[in-house]
Amino acid sequence: MDYPEKIRINEVVLRDGLQLEKKIVSVDEKVQLFNRLKNAGIESFEFGSFVHPARVPQMANSGELYSEIKQTAGSTTLIALVPNLKGAERAAQLGVKKINYVFSASDTHNLQNVQKSTLQSIEELQQINDFCLENTLSLDVSLATSFGCPFEGQIPNERVQSIVQQITQFEIDVLTLADTTGMANPKGVFQLVSLVCSEFPNQKFNLHFHNTRGMGLSNILAGINAGVTSFDTALGGLGGCPFAPGATGNVCTEDVVHLLHSMGMQTNVDLNKLIGVSALLEEIVGHKNSSYLLKAGPYDKKYPVPVSS
Ligand code: ZN
Repeated sequence: MDYPEKIRINEVVLRDGLQLEKKIVSVDEKVQLFNRLKNAGIESFEFGSFVHPARVPQMANSGELYSEIKQTAGSTTLIALVPNLKGAERAAQLGVKKINYVFSASDTHNLQNVQKSTLQSIEELQQINDFCLENTLSLDVSLATSFGCPFEGQIPNERVQSIVQQITQFEIDVLTLADTTGMANPKGVFQLVSLVCSEFPNQKFNLHFHNTRGMGLSNILAGINAGVTSFDTALGGLGGCPFAPGATGNVCTEDVVHLLHSMGMQTNVDLNKLIGVSALLEEIVGHKNSSYLLKAGPYDKKYPVPVSS
C-alpha cells in the first residue's frame, strides 16, 4: 500500500505522560521539556489538564505552565484536557485557545473517571460546545476506552459508532479514539477506524494508544492502514490513567517517530534530538523509561540504511 507522506504527532507526555508519576514535576522542569521537544520539531502538545487538583496533583500547575509556554509557543498547538464545563471555563480564563474534552465510551469507566454516565457527558458536550463557540475556543474530543474497558471488556463497535455520530453533530476539530488501557489489537483498530472514517469522512480523527501489552506500534500501523494520519504519543513511553486499573505507558514518541521515518513517512521531528530529550526526562522523573530508541539509538546512526533490492 501507499503510506502517507506526513504524520501528525501530538505529544502528550506533559499531560498523560506525567499524571501517574509520584514525584511532582515542577513548572520549570516541564518548561524545559517543552522547549527541548519544540526544538526537536514537535508541533502539537497536550500540555496539561484542568481537573480537580486533589484528583490529579501532577496537573495542578497546568495553568502556571501555560502562562510560561504560551510566550514562546509561536505556531505550536497547545491543547488542555478538560473533563467538564468548569475545566473549559478555567482554561478559557487563562487564555487557552484549544481544549480537549474527554469522556469514555464505557459508562463504568466514565463513572470512575468523571462521575457521569456517557450520556450525561454527551449532554455536557452540548454546553461545552456552546461555550467554545461563544469564546472562540477550538474544541477537540477524546473518547476514552473506545477499544476496550478494564471494567466492561470490549465495547461494541456499534456503540462507539453511535457515540461518534452524536459527537460529530457539534463543532469538533479533532476527534480522538483512545485505547486508554492498551486493550486494542491491530485487527480491531483497523475495523473500528475504517468504519468511522468511512461513516464520517469530514471528521478529522486522531488515535491514542497505550502500550500496556506491547501492541502500541502495531496499532499505530493499523490506524494508518485505516486512513488516520494523526496520533497521540508520549516521550519515553510514560503515562497512564489514574482511574483505570493496570493502565501503563502511552506509545513512545521516539519509537513511533523511528517507525514512521524508517517507512518513509515524515513527522518534522529530529529523532536524535528527541532521544536527547528522552534522556533528560529520565533524569527529571528519576527512573528509566520504556523507550527502545533510547537504549538502541537510531538505526541509521550505527548501521548504514540497507538499500532495498
Ligand atoms: Zn491515555
